[in-house]
Amino acid sequence: MSSIVVVGAGIIGVTIAYELQRRGLAVTLVDRDAPGKGASYGNMASVAVTEFMPASRQGIWAQMPKWLLDPEGPVRIRPAYMPKLVPWFLRFLAASRPSKLRELEAAGAVLCQRVYEDFDALLKQTGLTQMLTAEGCLSLYTDEAEFKADREHIDILERFGFRYEIIGGNAIRDLEPALTTKIGKAVLFPDNRSISDPYKLVTALFERFEALGGRIVQGDVAGFEQSEAGVSAIRLADGRRVVAEKMVLAAGAFTARLSALLREHIPLETERGYHTQIVEPGISMRHSIIWPARAFMVTPTAGGIRVGGTVEMAGLEAPPDYRRAKILVKRAREALPELNAERATEWMGHRPALPDTVPVMGPSAKRRNVWYATGHGHLGLTYAATTGRLMADLITGIKPPVDMKPYRVDRF
Ligand SMILES: Cc1cc2nc3c(=O)[nH]c(=O)nc-3n(C[C@H](O)[C@H](O)[C@H](O)COP(=O)(O)OP(=O)(O)OC[C@H]3O[C@@H](n4cnc5c(N)ncnc54)[C@H](O)[C@@H]3O)c2cc1C
Repeated sequence: MSSIVVVGAGIIGVTIAYELQRRGLAVTLVDRDAPGKGASYGNMASVAVTEFMPASRQGIWAQMPKWLLDPEGPVRIRPAYMPKLVPWFLRFLAASRPSKLRELEAAGAVLCQRVYEDFDALLKQTGLTQMLTAEGCLSLYTDEAEFKADREHIDILERFGFRYEIIGGNAIRDLEPALTTKIGKAVLFPDNRSISDPYKLVTALFERFEALGGRIVQGDVAGFEQSEAGVSAIRLADGRRVVAEKMVLAAGAFTARLSALLREHIPLETERGYHTQIVEPGISMRHSIIWPARAFMVTPTAGGIRVGGTVEMAGLEAPPDYRRAKILVKRAREALPELNAERATEWMGHRPALPDTVPVMGPSAKRRNVWYATGHGHLGLTYAATTGRLMADLITGIKPPVDMKPYRVDRF
């Protein structure tokens, strides 16, 4: 029986570990924390199959100056971090050429088109189908001008055959009575469903992994033992070692630190995001909502209503700035005037972000027994089941059902 170590017990690492263990490999997960305590803990719970567009697309460039100048805007770059961001930003710029954008859209769409096939299979096998809600997501617009500004998004969806439905006037309030009458138009994305509790999904999958015989070692990965044949063991900060025949690095936004120890550069940044979990919101909702012009999201979850979003570029070490979370709640109350945010908790997480928006999923270009799964950005929950399936195919020598070239680690 072949043995494999998966570093990182977020939604990506746990899903890969579960799938490999299910296929008969002996898998050891390694994480410095308990499973699911990274970005996967507090994301917006959305299976966001309609959000695969490259962040470097034209519509974003048009908004960027306004966003950056507004201290309450949806994108914030901490001044001290700007010089460190230059190489990533240059690659982001390179990813905005029209021909490149078409390629990146296709690479994201191909994954999103198979998300439910893979998610349904995973949730069915693990007895977790009840975690996927039935309702879609409403995208909100005050007026025609706001809708037009988001038209590029809808055009891309149309090109790839994703479903949407334009809704006007009172029909919006029929769907979500808590919404303000200021919203004059909405688009319903019926396939943009959500997970009732993303953290519970990770822990439940982890339990299923353990039940199949999977192991976990808690420890901080600090280095690797290498030979001609590749990586032979993982060294933990406390001196322990974990022997590895094969290894997958899936440590979220921290993966580039580990790949650097193998002399493999991945241009990974953290796009820090925030949520506020409102325990007694005073309203009820069925759909999640996004308001593109205000750049926030609200999702009804098992533990109350979650408000989140924002992109803060400030690296892996800077302390959270919870003013960002408060701005999002203020915006959400513009859409949901009766929302009561008195009883709430705040959270910050690190989205693993690559400059071209497309994740890295595949073998190392430098070490023959190492694979990477990282850079899932805003869509790590969405892509989790698909990543587990594709990575397990690659590692067990089965031809994956999609062309994996766009997700290569050495594409930059
Ligand atoms: C505010 C916000 C909202 C989001 N909303 C959505 C959404 O609605 N839908 C969606 O699809 N995605 C969403 N995302 C993105 C999604 O959460 C991430 O893409 C996903 O969680 C990444 O999963 P991961 O397993 O790669 O990383 P993580 O969950 O961060 O896991 C990485 C793990 O690696 C471990 N690790 C790191 N370094 C080491 C080391 N040296 N040694 C040992 N262990 C290590 C960490 O402890 C951690 O457990 C959102 C993210 C944020 C922040």
